[in-house]
Amino acid sequence: MTRREQLLDRIRPVLVCPTCRGPLVERGRDLACATCDLVVKRDGAFRFAGLSEETQNADWLNSVKAVAKHRLGRLYPLAMNVLAPVYGDAGLDAFLDSFADDAIVCDLGAGTRSYDDRVVCVDGFGYKSVHVVCDLVALPFADGSLDGVFSEAVLEHVPDPVAHVAEMLRVLRPGGRVHCYFPFMQAFHASPHDYSRLTIPGLRKLFEGFTDCRTWVAGGPTSGLVWTLQEWLAIAGSFGSERLYRALVPLTWVLSPLKYLDAVLIKHPAAHTIASGFAIEATKPGGAPGR
Ligand SMILES: [Zn+2]
Repeated sequence: MTRREQLLDRIRPVLVCPTCRGPLVERGRDLACATCDLVVKRDGAFRFAGLSEETQNADWLNSVKAVAKHRLGRLYPLAMNVLAPVYGDAGLDAFLDSFADDAIVCDLGAGTRSYDDRVVCVDGFGYKSVHVVCDLVALPFADGSLDGVFSEAVLEHVPDPVAHVAEMLRVLRPGGRVHCYFPFMQAFHASPHDYSRLTIPGLRKLFEGFTDCRTWVAGGPTSGLVWTLQEWLAIAGSFGSERLYRALVPLTWVLSPLKYLDAVLIKHPAAHTIASGFAIEATKPGGAPGR
């Protein structure tokens, strides 16, 4: 049995119907809801209803990114690290290291990111590395069934972040922990949609159902400025032409290395005023933290 199959077997007991939260029964290799007749295909991943191709292609930059994600696979996050105007550390490695080997930790909105065998990749699109394909609005996990969840630059793409955070709270066990990166000063970037930005107090309010909240600047102030400047240059230099604007955007990426100034500036006490993004970690009340 491959390690991937082992991981799928390990999460099978915590899967429920995302529509009625009823138990799922085996139907051949697939799963089916005993109550509402939903069928979940199992072929290297559990395939609940994800997002449609039309949704993926609704925005021009997002459809370019979608092609790049499929072509580059695991190299895509690496390419984004170099080309993106954002510098900072969300502290995800430390968060993941803090869990025991048998913990179930889910990346909600994983895209093409993948990790060690412990992390379950959940996404609306069936990229190769994804283990559970589903709509993030209704997670197919039982109440109190997960040890950890994290969300890296995903919540701004969810139409109702309050409802999504309520889902995180529902699926975590008491004492289970969440890690979230949320952008603040970032240009519009649909993936497939883009709805919101938050300040640190806004992020704390969003996670008010949790306890032990810790927040920090995870994308620096230069990053906030550079991304805005890149967009401004493409707008100002394209004289009203959307075609020219689209051609200019990739050229402005030569300015992205300015982001490395944030190695110093991210530590400034006022960095949060124009920071590119913030991270939060918090615990579901009512249980022993750790694990
Ligand atoms: Zn059902």
